[in-house]
Amino acid sequence: MPRAAQPVAPSPAKTAAPTAVKGAASVAQKALQKLGLRRDIDLALHLPLRYEDETRITPLANARDGQMVQIEATVTASEIQLRPRRQLLVQVEDGTGSCELRFFSFYPSHQKTLAVGARLRIRGEIKGGFWGRQMMHPAFRVAGGELPAALTPVYPTTAGLPQPYLRRAVVGALTRVDLSDTLPPSAEPPVTQIYSQNGLQRLFSLREALTFLHHPTPDVALSTFEDHSHPAWQRLKAEELLAQQLSQQQSRRARDMLRAPVLRAQKAADGALPLHEQLLAVLPFSLTAAQRRVGEEIAADLARKVPMHRLLQGDVGSGKTVVSALAACLAMDAGWQCALMAPTEILAEQHFAKMIGWLEPLLAARGRKVAWLVGGQKKKDRTAMLALVASGEAALVVGTHAVIQEQVQFKNLALAIIDEQHRFGVAQRLALRQKLAAHGMEPHMLMMSATPIPRTLAMSYYADLDVSVIDELPPGRTPIVTKLIADSRKDEVIARIGAQVESGRQVYWVCPLIEESEALDLSNATATHADLSEALPGVMVGLLHSRMPNAEKKAVMALFTSGQMGVLVSTTVIEVGVDVPNASLMVIEHAERFGLSQLHQLRGRVGRGAAASACVLLYATNDSGRVGETAKERLRAMAETNDGFEIARRDLEIRGPGEFLGARQSGDALLRFADLATDTHLLEWARELAPVMLDRHPDLAAKHIARWLGGKSDYLKA
Ligand code: ADP
Ligand code: MG
Repeated sequence: MPRAAQPVAPSPAKTAAPTAVKGAASVAQKALQKLGLRRDIDLALHLPLRYEDETRITPLANARDGQMVQIEATVTASEIQLRPRRQLLVQVEDGTGSCELRFFSFYPSHQKTLAVGARLRIRGEIKGGFWGRQMMHPAFRVAGGELPAALTPVYPTTAGLPQPYLRRAVVGALTRVDLSDTLPPSAEPPVTQIYSQNGLQRLFSLREALTFLHHPTPDVALSTFEDHSHPAWQRLKAEELLAQQLSQQQSRRARDMLRAPVLRAQKAADGALPLHEQLLAVLPFSLTAAQRRVGEEIAADLARKVPMHRLLQGDVGSGKTVVSALAACLAMDAGWQCALMAPTEILAEQHFAKMIGWLEPLLAARGRKVAWLVGGQKKKDRTAMLALVASGEAALVVGTHAVIQEQVQFKNLALAIIDEQHRFGVAQRLALRQKLAAHGMEPHMLMMSATPIPRTLAMSYYADLDVSVIDELPPGRTPIVTKLIADSRKDEVIARIGAQVESGRQVYWVCPLIEESEALDLSNATATHADLSEALPGVMVGLLHSRMPNAEKKAVMALFTSGQMGVLVSTTVIEVGVDVPNASLMVIEHAERFGLSQLHQLRGRVGRGAAASACVLLYATNDSGRVGETAKERLRAMAETNDGFEIARRDLEIRGPGEFLGARQSGDALLRFADLATDTHLLEWARELAPVMLDRHPDLAAKHIARWLGGKSDYLKA
């Protein structure tokens, strides 16, 4: 059994004065809370960032420049120097060589420990060679005592929480915490099979794994820590993925117990055709095979008495809107209401204008209406809309987050459609689910996303959802040509814009959003707007940014949509939804600052009409004029493929899952140990084991979820 390493006294610079000890403890307590380390299990799962090897003493003669070493040596001289600044200089030697210790901050007590003749154990980084070795601010203490048998953990920490305190807290937690196994006994036949099929017959126990990861023996190959392939790591990753699967499959089961309205196509009272057939008849195109297939999947869900939670995925321009409109028809046919939401007002309007254009006349023939609900609405309008919604006269309610607000009382909301679902948070989805509570039911939910979610992500974070994919674009789209161009050649690009506008086309110019500074953002966009206006005399150049009042945004968009405006400079507000088929060139400045999926979304704003379209990715070159090679390498994927799924897969590799999940997950609920890019076999294992556990060992399942997710499991449920 590896023992907890005795912490070496920290260097003076890091220690608080003794009188401050009590205060320091409460500061440390607060810091623990801040790191989310509340329960013993949280501390037990707080793994070291790295380890220090205090298990051996290195003779000074063998210590190389730059090496972290622990030495045992005797002080031969100790003095305070005042120039160039006050410092304590201590000479030590261990019989094989000597070394100078240098401290710029020190207390009298430290000076005493470092007195001539003292035998010390010292740890630090060696600088210099045989003739002049030195350590700056090493840790030290009086020599003696056994060397620890295990490596010393160094934990992620925060201000006010010193390593020794955190180490003691973890050791204490490890002795107290219940780590009894929650995995079902592998002797049970179905469980055995799941283990062996996934090559997991021999896992460490959780206690073994944690003891090991906090205090590994020094003989372990560091590489197995680094790539997390060590069996101790495997166990933790397996446990974590299992908790995620259990929680999501459990919430799916809970949902299956709930009731939702059964929605099927119905003729109107006067014998008119069902709404969705009427809609199909007025559409100026016929559906693609993928749209039809997905439409049938949704219709089958809606005909069940269990609430649908389906994610509709499809690349930009794949035609999700019309599929959702057809679903809405099924709901509205039977006299129920349907809500349609987008994350911003501009998007809601842009996005659904066409859909409303199709549906409004059909609804009017049945004496029903479309209601519009957004944040900045006039009180009078809003009151009128709310009345329409409450009476049920509004069959379709379109808008932003405003649709979910508490004051909005639906008569009978049967289907909620959420566009760009990743921009809506958990709380909002939960609120929506309450909107049919008066009927003792929940509405069906259809969530749409233009960011294709890679399969492993769908299997893990979205395990509680059903997924439909539109994997085909409507016919007749011209592929977009993507070019990477160094920003030193911006002038050429501007000249090309001139030519496009001349030939009657329109152009988007996107300035990157710099998250840290919205103000800087704005000034960049404003400057670009001025530059382009000057370089393109006679062309109307517009500016759109997130801080503009809505009315102004609308006015700008209207000018661009109508074709009067040739160039639209904007921050990423056009990221989703804008549909101007005449726009044929998209220029993205500082493309290296965007995620690939984001770039793909932006690029999807062109190539929507018949004209040949292009996307120019301008990337920054550094001062010496050289290319940011890694940035360019990453961007090259954009030129190589137009396939959103392929791009998403590469993006996941590069940037991890956070980007895809957006508001769906709080940072808390993200996987900490498992890596979806490499741990697919563990994910498969967890996915197969979870239902068996829920069926046969509900008590173990509950314990496992509580241990891993504590109060956080709610985040996974909406
Ligand atoms: P997205 O999936 O990005 O939301 P939209 O629903 O906005 O895509 O559709 C993009 C464009 O394609 C719209 O103008 C829409 O009317 C049109 N469209 C949708 N389905 C088809 C189809 N089957 N054939 C031709 N055009 C279609
Ligand atoms: Mg859309």
